[in-house]
Amino acid sequence: MRYACLYELWSMMPPGRKKPTSILDSPEPAEVRSLFGFNIQQLTDLMAEFDAPAYRAKQLAEAIYRQWEDDLEKVSTLPKPLREAMSERGFKVGLPQIIESYVSMDGTERYLIAGNDGQTVETVWMPDGDGGEAGDGSEAGTDLRRATICVSSQIGCAVNCQFCLTAKLGIIRNLTAGEIAGQVVAVLKRHKVEIGKRRINLVFMGMGEPFLNYDEFMAAVRLLVKEVGIPESRMTVSTSGIVPGILRFAQEPVRPKLAISLNAPNDAARTEIMPITKKWDLAHVIQAVRQVPLRPKEKVTFEYVLLGGLNDRDRDADEVGQLLRRANLPLKVNLIVWNPGPGMPYSMSDPHTVHLFQYRLKYNNLPAYVRRPRGRDIFAACGQLKRTSEKLVQLGG
Ligand code: SF4
Repeated sequence: MRYACLYELWSMMPPGRKKPTSILDSPEPAEVRSLFGFNIQQLTDLMAEFDAPAYRAKQLAEAIYRQWEDDLEKVSTLPKPLREAMSERGFKVGLPQIIESYVSMDGTERYLIAGNDGQTVETVWMPDGDGGEAGDGSEAGTDLRRATICVSSQIGCAVNCQFCLTAKLGIIRNLTAGEIAGQVVAVLKRHKVEIGKRRINLVFMGMGEPFLNYDEFMAAVRLLVKEVGIPESRMTVSTSGIVPGILRFAQEPVRPKLAISLNAPNDAARTEIMPITKKWDLAHVIQAVRQVPLRPKEKVTFEYVLLGGLNDRDRDADEVGQLLRRANLPLKVNLIVWNPGPGMPYSMSDPHTVHLFQYRLKYNNLPAYVRRPRGRDIFAACGQLKRTSEKLVQLGG
């Protein structure tokens, strides 16, 4: 689509302005326009607007997504007059910037990254190699070159899971593809990661429900795979069970692995903590998951947040076992001990109960892992991502 980028820019402008027909007709040449998030077709269209050949788009993509250049002036592969013309029209690289960071005792780091409108989004870096498990639930071993980045897809969330602090924000806005992929690149750049030399896992499990921001989320995935160079097999997206999103996902030629946030053994119990169940019950969610054509050895992950005395009893484990065995899917279960948050009416399961729950699932022939909490002391753990200022108050208190 030749003018896709123009219309995207237009959609971000205040109402009442004349719609541009070309980038060079744009009514506000001085307005800053971020290139980060443009795919190769959009960059090619942009270069055509500047009467530059198509190969300049590849050079620009290389500078933005591989060299993580943050200043158009430094993109020396482009001729100076072209750079100047682009700058005059307000274009900048627009690599998202980390504006605040918090470091946990366990090495986890939580970042606040500025979005296009100055609002912050939260992203978490989890180094592996400490003998625990990776952020995606698999065993991390002792490979110090591995790390997992937990990425947000929205600011806030509309799904209203009762055990999650992000839900308390409500939905503030969707992130753009550039803001989603930009979190990853900002963190990779901070840690000077060399793509291909260090194994990086991405989990789309931060703030927000990715399948309620489907188009931007998938556009970000394509950017990360095709332009940044992270294999899709190293990515996992978690959904609360948005059935139309799962069905679209099943059609994607390039897609991450799938995780379903289960958290209860049946619809009645799940509705209490995940009201979204009223819209899409477990039978429909599992039916949709079965439409996703899995790659060889690929498994669907079912995540289960353990809430003390509520969903962590023996009978809950047995019912989860029956439910998932009936699903007849290649799958594994990630058990997550609930991470406390202020004003939340839940308690943590004790270690013996967690162990027993895992044992009962394994007894049902289900691979079950316990995800080690990461960065609890900096409010970076699962379900704890909320807003900076409030968190600072919590940390100070
Ligand atoms: S757990 Fe995920 S889907 Fe549920 S409210 Fe929190 S961010 Fe949204």
